[in-house]
Amino acid sequence: MFDFDGQVVIVTGSGSPKGIGRTIAKTFAKQKAAVVIADMNEAGVQDTVNEIRAEGGEAMGVTVNVTDEASVQKMVDDIMDAYGRIDVLINNAGISQKVTVADMTLADMRKIFEVNMFGLFLCTQKCMKVMRDQKYGRIVNLSSVSAKRGGGVFGGAHYSASKAAVLAFSKNLSREISAEGITVNSVCPGLINTEIWKSLPKEDADKIIDGIPMGRPGETQEVANAIVFLASREASYITGEEIDINGGSHMD
Ligand code: NAD
Repeated sequence: MFDFDGQVVIVTGSGSPKGIGRTIAKTFAKQKAAVVIADMNEAGVQDTVNEIRAEGGEAMGVTVNVTDEASVQKMVDDIMDAYGRIDVLINNAGISQKVTVADMTLADMRKIFEVNMFGLFLCTQKCMKVMRDQKYGRIVNLSSVSAKRGGGVFGGAHYSASKAAVLAFSKNLSREISAEGITVNSVCPGLINTEIWKSLPKEDADKIIDGIPMGRPGETQEVANAIVFLASREASYITGEEIDINGGSHMD
């Protein structure tokens, strides 16, 4: 357990009912953070907020489109009005698509990058300004094993490329701002037990499991645990790092 008492934590994409973001948000709330549930899924935002409050936690819901600069700025302004600070940003909102390069359109490519990379940029840039004034901040970005090994689970080449862009962006940014008390790190989950896993046909699922030394998909809680560590005060000398969370399916 880490102590996030008095800290404000934003988790984008935390409205998805079975997604990683909701588990991340609930894990921070259990460790006394005030958690901002930020997602374009309005009903999902409310559900996550309700779940956290039912467990005695502190949560604020924000409906945001991370690809829209004005929407992201409004999110930051509303959080500053409510709490006056932003300590942690978890860039978790992301989309994927199963398509071959042969069939991919430029619009497909743009859509994936728009959310996974450009949305992450907008949220990071706006929150970073506040963190700079505070001289403290933690940014954790959701990349994927797909960035390192070129897919193999679900998404197309555009997804792998967008998640690889996240890794390089995070490292470059950590050079820019780490001296100011702000760390920037990434996690690279492998196959996680979410809707994507449940949607896979059994033979595809079996093939993937064969390539995982632990012989099972990861749980959302296992991703959240690593993220909470990177976002803690205790992880003070870790920046520009990427942590694999993949049951051994890719080691480097
Ligand atoms: P999910 O689809 O369950 O949740 C993603 C959430 O992002 C949704 O609630 C959606 O509404 C939100 N979102 C999408 N576009 C948005 C936008 N423009 N503005 C605001 N919110 C937006 O996804 P998940 O499986 O929980 O994955 C979460 C993150 O982890 C993603 O970045 C994904 O790429 C990454 N990841 C997932 C897995 C996996 O196995 N599930 C593996 C590796 C990495």
